[in-house]
Amino acid sequence: MQIDPSQVLVIITTHPNNTVDYSVLHYLDSKNVPRKNITVAGGKGSIVEKRNTLVKDILSKQDNRPELSWVLFLDEDVTPTELTNPIWDSVDFDIVGCEYDLPPEKKAWVYPDTFHMGCVRVRIELFRKLKLPVFMFEYNEEGTRITSCECGYFKRKALEVGASITRREYAEHTAGKTWVHTA
Ligand SMILES: [Zn+2]
Repeated sequence: MQIDPSQVLVIITTHPNNTVDYSVLHYLDSKNVPRKNITVAGGKGSIVEKRNTLVKDILSKQDNRPELSWVLFLDEDVTPTELTNPIWDSVDFDIVGCEYDLPPEKKAWVYPDTFHMGCVRVRIELFRKLKLPVFMFEYNEEGTRITSCECGYFKRKALEVGASITRREYAEHTAGKTWVHTA
């Protein structure tokens, strides 16, 4: 069963150039996501802080728009294609990730429930069960090495409150190898 696109708030994170490729909007149009449901989160500042602030905003938006049930997080350098369509399925799961290329990090997709924030759908209700910050990079004791990306941190917090997680196929990823992902 597919989710209802009118229930999806799409957050496109830009880093930090504020550009969104038209192909992303075209894809969302083709899935009948209303334009009023699409938000671009750009500007300067840490993407992790931005996402934590967005979660607060999402919950307050839902108070005014109770029909919203899902957030689809997209990074602007991730381009959904027809191969991405399964991310609209799996209505029973709280988190539905979508795989995309993250070279050269071979550990990025180790587990079947591994997901990253560049393309993932999250049930808004799940955020109500979590304390902020929802997203955080974690480091080793010396602070010299990232041991988990913000996505891995979110995943562990979600699992602690019993969230169900799955991953589906596949989105294009065109740029940004500066981001370390390990979950
Ligand atoms: Zn990640």
